[in-house]
Amino acid sequence: MHLAPRILVTGGAGFIGSFLCERLLDQGAEVLCVDNFFTGRRSNVAHLMPNPRFELMRHDVTFPLFVEVDEIYNLACPASPVHYQFDPVQTTKTSVHGAINVLGLAKRTKAKILQASTSEVYGDPEIHPQREEYWGNVNPIGPRSCYDEGKRCAETLFFDYHRQHGTEIKVARIFNTYGPRMHPNDGRVVSNFIMQALRGEDITLYGDGQQTRSFCYVDDLVEGLIRLMNTAPEVTGPINLGNPGEFTIRELAELVIELTGSKSSLVHKPLPQDDPRQRQPDISRARETLGWEPTLRLRDGLEKTIAYFRQLTNA
Ligand code: NAD
Ligand code: UDP
Ligand code: UDP
Repeated sequence: MHLAPRILVTGGAGFIGSFLCERLLDQGAEVLCVDNFFTGRRSNVAHLMPNPRFELMRHDVTFPLFVEVDEIYNLACPASPVHYQFDPVQTTKTSVHGAINVLGLAKRTKAKILQASTSEVYGDPEIHPQREEYWGNVNPIGPRSCYDEGKRCAETLFFDYHRQHGTEIKVARIFNTYGPRMHPNDGRVVSNFIMQALRGEDITLYGDGQQTRSFCYVDDLVEGLIRLMNTAPEVTGPINLGNPGEFTIRELAELVIELTGSKSSLVHKPLPQDDPRQRQPDISRARETLGWEPTLRLRDGLEKTIAYFRQLTNA
């Protein structure tokens, strides 16, 4: 007999997944972390290994998985453009075949299941800020499509399993999230800028740096995911989770330089194809449904993240 809920976290050895596993263990759950270590690392969860309620399994979610669980958080998928474009076919398979497998698992075990979807389903948005009702502006055939369309199709599968099989689903649309344990070579903007600043290298602004993003600290995001999982069965989402504080990429670079005390200079590099011009979540739905909003300002979250990368580079 199991008293503690048995929770599967796919992609649990990744950046967000490792914080989620940690928080679920703190709450008394049994956690099964499944990861193929494409962008995740054992070291992200090494500190959880001594906990008898934690189990780590190497597995690729594009293949079926037979385990007995009560809840599933489906996070498996590379999130950085550099990594998801490395093997785009595998990226789509991870989102689509991965979703089919975990949904099949949820259907059989009657587990409730949460999908880590993304603000990328809005593409290069024509509506600002983005509300959940907006259907998005995604290029179906560009270099980002493997990620964007894979995640959109996963949302479709979640809602069809819900309608067709009564599976209890929760869909979170996550906006740019950052924090410690991002891989130093992750390629996303926050880790790039901090590593460049700490090493005294040029800070690479893609394009004119006037494009915007809204950055959420990982602890805030994980709190939102857990609150969403614990909502009543009729709450399916999609629900935006992100920090509405919007910054240009140039402002982010200047803030990182200030907080690190770096002498790095800003240089311009070509803007990648289909790079969204602006992105800011409307989180009214999360506020109303989950009583949730981010608590950490960008400046404070960056300080924590810089401290992590500093200790990593000195090691
Ligand atoms: P990450 O790359 O650190 O984590 C992804 C994890 O999934 C890694 O541990 C990786 O090894 C694993 N993985 C990839 N393919 C797999 C497969 N086929 N089978 C099993 N495991 C596989 O990225 P993250 O930032 O922690 O993102 C976690 C999830 O949140 C992803 O689904 C991502 O799309 C979503 N998300 C993240 C952000 C963000 O800003 N960090 C924004 C929107 C959505
Ligand atoms: N599946 C899985 N684990 C389970 C149950 C199903 O990995 O515990 C996989 C199964 O192999 C299938 C997919 O999930 O490929 C979808 O399952 P579903 O029952 O919805 O469809 P079917 O098996 O009828 O194609
Ligand atoms: N970016 C940048 N320099 C970098 C990495 C990224 O200017 O070294 C820009 C990128 O072009 C985009 C923004 O920062 O406009 C966020 O990029 P990231 O890859 O972090 O996430 P996403 O584009 O998926 O939001």
